Amino acid sequence: MNPINLTHAPVLVVGAGIMGVGIAQVAAQAGHAVMLFDTREGAAAEAKAKLSATLDGLVQKGKLAPEAAAMTMGRITSIDTLDEAAGAKLVVEAIVEKLDIKRSLFRQMETLVAPDCVLATNTSSISVTAIANGLRHPERLVGMHFFNPVPLMKLVEVVSGLQTSAAVAQAIFDVSKAWGKVPVHARSTPGFIVNRIARPYYAETLALLQEQAATPAVLDACLRAAGFRMGPCELMDLIGHDTNFSVTQSVYEANFFDKRFVPSLVQRELVDGGLLGRKSGQGFFSYAEGAAKPGVPAYIPAVFPTCRTLVVMGSGALADRLAHSLHQAGHAYTRNTGADWVGLSVDGAHLRQTDGRAATLLTNPDTVVFDWLLTTETGAVLAVAPSLRASDTWQKQAQVWLRALGYTPVAVADVPGLVVARTVAMLINEAADAVHQGVCTADGADAAMKLGVNYPAGPFEWLGRVGAPVVVQLLDALDAHCRGERYRVSPWLRMRVMLHMA
Ligand code: NAD
Repeated sequence: MNPINLTHAPVLVVGAGIMGVGIAQVAAQAGHAVMLFDTREGAAAEAKAKLSATLDGLVQKGKLAPEAAAMTMGRITSIDTLDEAAGAKLVVEAIVEKLDIKRSLFRQMETLVAPDCVLATNTSSISVTAIANGLRHPERLVGMHFFNPVPLMKLVEVVSGLQTSAAVAQAIFDVSKAWGKVPVHARSTPGFIVNRIARPYYAETLALLQEQAATPAVLDACLRAAGFRMGPCELMDLIGHDTNFSVTQSVYEANFFDKRFVPSLVQRELVDGGLLGRKSGQGFFSYAEGAAKPGVPAYIPAVFPTCRTLVVMGSGALADRLAHSLHQAGHAYTRNTGADWVGLSVDGAHLRQTDGRAATLLTNPDTVVFDWLLTTETGAVLAVAPSLRASDTWQKQAQVWLRALGYTPVAVADVPGLVVARTVAMLINEAADAVHQGVCTADGADAAMKLGVNYPAGPFEWLGRVGAPVVVQLLDALDAHCRGERYRVSPWLRMRVMLHMA
């Protein structure tokens, strides 16, 4: 493989929209001469003027040196015809998301630029292999998928189609790094890495809403407590339900209608009703002036109730944490480290972490289940569900125990896998399938999810904390409950359990 060096390559950015301008900015900031082209007359010059005003604003706020702003702008030229870009050594396309238009642009580019010019597409959903179809040199076409806003988002997915040469992918990887980005290699499959692995974040919440598990505000609060910056409902409202629904639909169709990716009726109805989220003023939440967002309950500490027998069940980090809290409060307890579940047994009533089964289906009628604890923060919101057979007394008492342990319990319906466990397990499962299918490496998936969608941890980091056996048990229970394709376990995860690697 002969390495390709793009360090000093003149860059042509085609498409002067949101993404194109951002790409032109980062390339110019890294020292490249950049040409910017758009088919809409005057669009490239307008975009350049707008960028200049943005950089001036940063200079005035003291966030950018005046010389740096001037140098960046001095390197960007808006051009009126593509013929002017014959000297480009790297073309980055950020035009409309249509296969035939992208294909014809690259075919045209091949007649203009030198044979060693690298052609990159910023497509977020179209197959790189399909865009390269019909090119004289399909091996030089590669995906260079930036995230919005380009100057701020660190991730670049470097997407190889079937014919992309390893040298071209590596050249884009290297130049992305030189532009201050964190590149991750990906194979061209529907959704690439981020848009694929992130599907369950939306899908599980939409399924929980359909199952009447809880309100959007409660589901958001549970996932925020697990470290996500935004809950899925507020995030879908921000993205726009039309956009989010169409990405889900395209991933579903591109996977030959695999039920794992099935879109949601709940979201379809919002789209049909024009309740698109922030941009329309109403989605799950109202964005009308003065509208208050539903709040979450405040943490109300409690003291441990008295009881006759208290046993910390199970082993591992959570059991140890529960024992530690009881010890610190001077509460008498014993331990049953051989138990096959984790939680507390209080005078025979059970308060246990979900293993994916609904509480009502567990043997002990006096059972309350709680969600995965991915945070150690005091007062964190935690989903809890009582068995439909649990006594009123135990339902109330279980909440007091959780508050005494330092959590804010919020009641949800008795749905299998609750909220955080179900969502995070499905994110892990999707990431495991992506690795199993050679889309990316585990490290690549972790970096992509943390940098592309700001997840608090990567799916494989969660897997390391929770352990593959727990994830597989939870998904198997969901699969048994729902009986369909949706919760089928990735073979990669199953093998991991067999190999005792987690
Ligand atoms: P945009 O609508 O803001 O800009 C697209 C620009 O391309 C427009 O100015 C349009 O006039 C121009 N254009 C259309 N056809 C052209 C052609 N044949 N030749 C030259 N210019 C042409 O779109 P955007 O949001 O910047 O998206 C551009 C690409 O980046 C799409 O492929 C999109 O999927 C991808 N992308 C978008 C985002 C995002 O969040 N917006 C994120 C990642 C990737």
